[in-house]
Amino acid sequence: MDFERVRRFAEIRREYGSGYINLNPIQRGGILSEAARRALLEFGDGYSVCDFCPPEEARLDAIRRPPIREFMERLAEFLGMDVARVTTRCRESKFIAFRMLAKPGEYVVVDSLAHYSTYLAAELAMLRVKEVAHQGPPEYRISPEAYLQRIEEVERETGKPPAVALLTHVDPHHGNLVDPKPIAKICHEHGVPLILNAAYTAGVMPVDGRSLDVDILAGSGHKSWAASAPTGILALRGELAERILARSAIKGEWSGRSFPKKELALLGCTVMGAPLATLMASFPHVVERVKGWEAEVEKARYLASQLERIEGTRILGVKPKMHTLLHVESEGFYRVSKTHKRRGFFLYEELRQRGIVGVQPGLTRHFKLNTYGLTWEEVKRVAEAFQEIARKYGLSVH
Ligand SMILES: *Cc1c(COP(=O)(O)O)cnc(C)c1O
Repeated sequence: MDFERVRRFAEIRREYGSGYINLNPIQRGGILSEAARRALLEFGDGYSVCDFCPPEEARLDAIRRPPIREFMERLAEFLGMDVARVTTRCRESKFIAFRMLAKPGEYVVVDSLAHYSTYLAAELAMLRVKEVAHQGPPEYRISPEAYLQRIEEVERETGKPPAVALLTHVDPHHGNLVDPKPIAKICHEHGVPLILNAAYTAGVMPVDGRSLDVDILAGSGHKSWAASAPTGILALRGELAERILARSAIKGEWSGRSFPKKELALLGCTVMGAPLATLMASFPHVVERVKGWEAEVEKARYLASQLERIEGTRILGVKPKMHTLLHVESEGFYRVSKTHKRRGFFLYEELRQRGIVGVQPGLTRHFKLNTYGLTWEEVKRVAEAFQEIARKYGLSVH
């Protein structure tokens, strides 16, 4: 092996660390709190949280030093759920729920704006997917009636209801917020448990699973809880918790070894070090920050209105926006890209020169951004940058 090449790995640096405004939708809610940054160093070594793993229980959620056990209880309380576990990612939480609630070949009903990982989680759990259609542009609404139709369709086709249904609370494409309550009601009337994919909501805005009437809540620590990757949240209500967190029943056929304390779908333990420490250390910050959600939405609406002043530019999804993720459609910037020597890259490059990153290189006609956690001053800087670039290339700003 060429060690000179390998040596360079020791010098890895983040190109867009501090100093830039990063508008990438997936980056805004995962910026660490100061406490989490300290915890990251403190717990950086390997299985750092396992020093005091209790021998009787020998499980992550049973550890008291550091107080992981209490953290998981408080986490469930914060989300209005009965039990919480930390997983590696939102997608793992979904996979675990699918795997434990459905047998191979059974149906899961999902909204058609679901994240790709919802489909993959279903595929890996060997389930069939029945999609709830969304309505057309520019709003892309999901209706409770469409859930009902799909559930009834599965009942007609298979003689029984789908094993489980999933709703994406805020979809990653248009940032639409969907009210889970009427969908939960329909699901429950048909005996179908409902998973709420709260990857873009829990941790940034108030989410109370009990009042939303959801059975399972999947969240993403690195997306929305000011935590390092990989961290996910799986929160459960009612008897479903026992099914999903079922213990191992295997027995070594020769040794007779068995592991009845281990939670099967978690493969015993999940996040045993630094990422969990960041999730815990940021928790007080998260509990406080969700109270400021309305002000965050105000900033997104302001930016939306400023971007819509640019010729040929509109924000897709249901309006007024109820979330900080914006899908921008710009025929104006797209038109500029067709004759610009840098083609679609001009927008990314112009923004970067102004200290703004996160709009994907090459995109002009459709791109997404997220204002979550920006100061008003930063939001204004972003609005001005877009308008300045528009004017520079002859687009009107009214
Ligand atoms: C980002 C996102 C995910 C993926 O979250 P991970 O924690 O990385 O698995 C899943 N669902 C939705 C709706 C998302 O926006």
